[in-house]
Amino acid sequence: MPGQGSLDRALGALLGGALGDALGMPSQTLDRAAIAARYGRIAGFLAPFPGHPVSHGLPAGAVTDDTEQTLLLARLLIDGGGVLDDCAWAQALIGWEAGVRARGLRDLLGPSTRRALDALLAGTPVGETGRTGTTNGAAMRIAPVGIATSANDLPRLVTRVAAACRVTHATREAIAAAAAVAAVVSQGIDGATFDAALPAALEAARLGAALGAAVGEPDMAGRIALALDIARGGDEARLACEIGTSVASRCSVAAAFGVVRLAGGDAWRAAQIAANIGDDTDTIGAIAGAMAGACSGASALPADKVALVVAVNRLELAPLAQGLLALRGAAR
Ligand SMILES: [Mg+2]
Repeated sequence: MPGQGSLDRALGALLGGALGDALGMPSQTLDRAAIAARYGRIAGFLAPFPGHPVSHGLPAGAVTDDTEQTLLLARLLIDGGGVLDDCAWAQALIGWEAGVRARGLRDLLGPSTRRALDALLAGTPVGETGRTGTTNGAAMRIAPVGIATSANDLPRLVTRVAAACRVTHATREAIAAAAAVAAVVSQGIDGATFDAALPAALEAARLGAALGAAVGEPDMAGRIALALDIARGGDEARLACEIGTSVASRCSVAAAFGVVRLAGGDAWRAAQIAANIGDDTDTIGAIAGAMAGACSGASALPADKVALVVAVNRLELAPLAQGLLALRGAAR
């Protein structure tokens, strides 16, 4: 049985991601100036303005694709005993998007995921579908792999990450980015602080880059290191400007590392910074929140914010956290 500490940190990863996702939901796709003009400084959960290009119709505190796909991946990993079946995963994503459409919402699959699933449906072999995906869709939903897999054997963790990227994001940029995030989450489960987790996260990015197609950013570890260095100065606008906040992994995933450093490792503060940072705010928040939450544990998250997000989205995370930790224990 996993200890209470690891269960708290596994829940922290899932809840921290959900907090960051929900806080950034009303500002996603807007630039920094537009966020400030629409909302002022976002500090708590807001409903999006009517006609928001992506989030229109969602209530305050609603999570988006980041959290929903994270939980989808968690369920598939648990059902598969830690092994992700490519076709089942592709079908789960397609089914998820059909559900989003049925709910009348606009937050559909991201560009890399959509392209890969279209190719898969058109008969392209699963080993070839993800060879152009460099965006942050893999990193945004990778936390369950980090919870379910120890980072003590880093090549093994990175191989598991690459397997979860295979259908949609089998490029050096996306695998490296997702591997770095998973490495922080995994070490957080074992009690590491964010700062203590960084050397292995950068090494995981280097290992991950070697496992993907040579497409996109060749030095994701360098991008993350640069974002961390910029964030040391404490300037959110400079981080956004110099690293970028777009859906590209080299921008948003690197930025998420900088955001956690700006927040001093606090998941709620990270979510607040991400919600105002511009562009892919919800995904930056989800990634930053998952990393910070894994390192701090759910008990360090603000209880009222957690209660609201759990209620609005009817989240039942404890069975998933326990199931993922059981996989981690079984593999020892
Ligand atoms: Mg989203």
